[in-house]
Amino acid sequence: MSVEQPTVLVVEDEPAQREVLSYNLEAEGFRVSRAEDGEQALLLAEEESPDIIVLDWMLPNVSGIEVCRRLKSRPETRAVPVIMLSARAEEVDRVRGLETGADDYVVKPYSVVELMARVRAQLRRTRPASVGERLEYEDIVLDSETHRVTRAEQPLKLGPTEFRLLTTFMEKPGRVWTREQLLDRVWGRDIYVDTRTVDVHIGRLRKALCQHGGGDPLRTVRGAGYALG
Ligand code: CA
Repeated sequence: MSVEQPTVLVVEDEPAQREVLSYNLEAEGFRVSRAEDGEQALLLAEEESPDIIVLDWMLPNVSGIEVCRRLKSRPETRAVPVIMLSARAEEVDRVRGLETGADDYVVKPYSVVELMARVRAQLRRTRPASVGERLEYEDIVLDSETHRVTRAEQPLKLGPTEFRLLTTFMEKPGRVWTREQLLDRVWGRDIYVDTRTVDVHIGRLRKALCQHGGGDPLRTVRGAGYALG
């Protein structure tokens, strides 16, 4: 696992199943956040911005289906992939699960190996660098396994913070990131850093990206933040 560990929110009411699942995800290098019911899941989905949610269907009070529906109707959580877990194998349930917006569906009892493969498949789409994919944007190539960055085939020297910033931008070209979002993603949520620090590192990243020439690919969006392209 490279760059930063992706966070998986595990939503499962049965303690033993929740622990087995969390244990396996942690062994794969993920950061795990746990919820034991639907209410808690909705709260944590907003507070911790997980990269992916593994959601049990059968939950007390608010069902997994309802949790999924609400996650997919909120702008802040809509893009987070959801893998639903269920003991119901019938086709009709599978269809219902996917209709509520679940990105994938795994039937219990599931194989841990298969579930991990599905988690990685979702992350390859939404957080490619976190599963070791190579990112490309125009003439810039970032290898998240080796931490090497090249532009027009020339190696670039980048500090660790600039590398994480560039990774964030290259995972979503065109997306405008606010300074706060960049702080959360690059520095971590629990660390207090002044937002002006972001500007300092953006300046360093710009300089690094142009060290062998080429235009500045980063865009300052007034009143909003920064974007790549
Ligand atoms: Ca359950």
